[in-house]
Amino acid sequence: MNRRDVLRIGLAAPIAAAGFAQRGRATTPRPTIMTVAGPITPDALGPMLTHEHVLVDFAPLAERTAEPTTARYDPDEVFDVVLPHLQALRPHGCRAMAEFTPAYLGRDPALLRRLSAASGLHLLTNTGFYGARNDQHLPPFVFTETADALAARWVREWTDGIDGTGIRPGFIKIGVDGGPLSDVDRKLVRAAARTHRRTGLTIAAHTGPAVPAFEQLEVLAEEGISASAWIWTHAQNEHDPAHHVAAARRGAWVAFDGVAPASLERHVALVRTMKDHDLLDRVLLSQDAGWYHVGEPGGGDIRPFTFFFTDFLPALRAAGLTEADLTQLTVTNPARAFTVQVRTR
Ligand SMILES: [Zn+2]
Repeated sequence: MNRRDVLRIGLAAPIAAAGFAQRGRATTPRPTIMTVAGPITPDALGPMLTHEHVLVDFAPLAERTAEPTTARYDPDEVFDVVLPHLQALRPHGCRAMAEFTPAYLGRDPALLRRLSAASGLHLLTNTGFYGARNDQHLPPFVFTETADALAARWVREWTDGIDGTGIRPGFIKIGVDGGPLSDVDRKLVRAAARTHRRTGLTIAAHTGPAVPAFEQLEVLAEEGISASAWIWTHAQNEHDPAHHVAAARRGAWVAFDGVAPASLERHVALVRTMKDHDLLDRVLLSQDAGWYHVGEPGGGDIRPFTFFFTDFLPALRAAGLTEADLTQLTVTNPARAFTVQVRTR
C-alpha cells in the first residue's frame, strides 16, 4: 500500500457506512455529491451535463461470451478517444457530468476515475439495472431474485464500492420499456425505491412516454418514496407537455436529455413551456451524447458534448430565458437532483 492509497482510505473511511448511522455515535447527515473521485459538497459541483455517456456496449448479454464486459474493449484506447471530448467542455465552463451507462452496458468506474483525473471534470457513475430494450441487458438472476435481493446488490455498491474499485455510485440508474410496466420492470422500480430508502441516492429511470412514467410514480408512492427522488429520463419522448407539467407538479424531476442539432427547437419549446408554468426548478437538461461505441473501429462516431454550450444555451437565451434561469437549469437543479445525505462522524 502506497501513500496515495493511505490517503484515499483515510478520506473514504468516514463514509464507509454512508447512509447508515454508525453504532453508538451521533451522526450528522451532510449534503454530498458522490463522484467517482469521492464525495464533494453540492456547491463544488458547478455547471453539469446531467445525462451523457463515455462508453456504451449495446451487445445483448445473450450474444456475449463469458468474459467480463471490460474485456471487450481496450480501456487505454477509450481513454485516448474520449478524453479530448471531455477536455473540450472546460473552456465552456462545464465542470461536471453524470455518466449514465449502467452495468451490463459498459459501465466502467475505473475508466471514469482516470478520465475525471485527466479532464478535471466531476464524473458520477451509477448503480442499478437496465430493463429497457426488451430486457436484453438484464442478467438471468434479475428475473428470479426478489426486489429486496436486487436492492441489496445496489446498496452493497453504495456501501462497499463497485466491483472492488472502491468507487461509489452517485445515483441509481434503471431502465423500463415504453409501455405499461412489465413485471420485471416494476420489480426494478421497487428495488430502486428500496435502494433509495436505504442510501438516499436519486433514481434516474430511462422511461420515455408518460404511461410508464406515471406507473413508476405510483410504485414509488406505494413504497413511501417522494417523487422528488425520481428523474423522468427521456421525458422529451412524451409528446404531450401536459404530462411533463403534471409530473413536475408532483415533484418529479423532468429530464429533457436529448438535446441535439435535429431536436434543438423541440427542446427549447419544452423548456419554455416549463418556464411558462413556473416549473423550471424541476427540469434537468442534457444531450445523451458521446460515446465510444464498443465493437466499432476507434469507437465509431462520437457526438461532441459541447453542442449544449455552443448552441443550446444561446437558443434558450433567444427564447427568453434569463441568466438566472440558465444557472438554475445547469447548476442549481443538478446539484439538488444528485445530492445525497451522507452521515459522517
Ligand atoms: Zn443515455
